[in-house]
Amino acid sequence: MPRLLRRESYRADGPHILDNKNFDFTSEVPPDYKCPLCHNLLRDPIQLISCGHRFCNSCYLKNLGRYGLNRHCPIDRKEFKESEVFQDRAWRNTIMSLRVRCKFKSCPWTGTLNSLLEDHVEECEFEDVKCPDPNCNIVMARSRLENHQKNECQWRVVVCDYCEDKYAVCKEEVHKATCRGVPEKCINGCLTRDIPRGQMKKHVENECPLTILPCQYRHVGCDDEIRRHQMKAHLDQNLQKHLDHACGKIRDMGADLREKTFQLNQHSEKLALLATEQARNMTGNGTLMWAIDNFEIRFRQAVNGIEPILQSEPALTGPYGYKFRSLVYLNGDAKAKGNHVDNILIAKSPLMYATNK
Ligand SMILES: [Zn+2]
Ligand SMILES: [Zn+2]
Ligand SMILES: [Zn+2]
Ligand SMILES: [Zn+2]
Ligand SMILES: [Zn+2]
Ligand SMILES: [Zn+2]
Ligand SMILES: [Zn+2]
Repeated sequence: MPRLLRRESYRADGPHILDNKNFDFTSEVPPDYKCPLCHNLLRDPIQLISCGHRFCNSCYLKNLGRYGLNRHCPIDRKEFKESEVFQDRAWRNTIMSLRVRCKFKSCPWTGTLNSLLEDHVEECEFEDVKCPDPNCNIVMARSRLENHQKNECQWRVVVCDYCEDKYAVCKEEVHKATCRGVPEKCINGCLTRDIPRGQMKKHVENECPLTILPCQYRHVGCDDEIRRHQMKAHLDQNLQKHLDHACGKIRDMGADLREKTFQLNQHSEKLALLATEQARNMTGNGTLMWAIDNFEIRFRQAVNGIEPILQSEPALTGPYGYKFRSLVYLNGDAKAKGNHVDNILIAKSPLMYATNK
């Protein structure tokens, strides 16, 4: 039997369903319904047949001791046998049918202890519940929860009227500080009202009549700066001035153009000369014309070993013929050094210069 009692659904050491104290009795509880050991309402009562005393199952097990040695009734010290202990389910049912009222003061509910535990605690409108938002710590009667979530909770999410972004009510200031839709007055002080903050730059750049702009004729020399709404008047009033600026500019540009054209022509002539020279070299007729300028200076340099060899521009033996150059040792070479001018011809086949060009 004690083993059976240990297996009772209410564990001796765990919290008991009656611990929650979700109720008050509507009238005084008769002493028979209380445990003489813990003085609380009997929990899962057992009864000793020999003397009729009842105890909570958990109080009985504690009194029995670790090895179940103490088999004397704690009230009258009468000895009892294991077979003389039983779970008093009838007594439990009687206790569960005692009338109670809900512990929440504003709740009008009354009923049996059993129906309170089975049904009412789950659905009592007056039970304190925490706001389900993890950031919100407000506790309120369940009946107020809906209104709280809809209208009061500081963490409820709302949509911004100006930009349609979402934010928690308590973060409104943070949002409004950065919201690009908040209407503002023009920073230039024009009369346009309610400009969304994100559109201010566009307004100032493209629309605002008070924005200061450079004169449209600044490229021809008008340095005036005018508010947008006064631009037309400025243009009307300064027609002659702008015309004079434009004329001066055209004059300057004409002079500049002539100078540039002159320079361009000079370059073209030089290019043409170079091209002719090159063509003569490439379509040669076997003649190499080579005038050595500053001969005396070069000769002296050769004697002194500064530049002993001079090399001519290449020439061709004929159209698509061999390419050749002349090398001149102005102070002679090898045995002839100091006595003769040595002139050496070097040639490349058409194939070679075609690839080595
Ligand atoms: Zn007890
Ligand atoms: Zn007893
Ligand atoms: Zn209630
Ligand atoms: Zn809340
Ligand atoms: Zn916004
Ligand atoms: Zn403006
Ligand atoms: Zn101007």
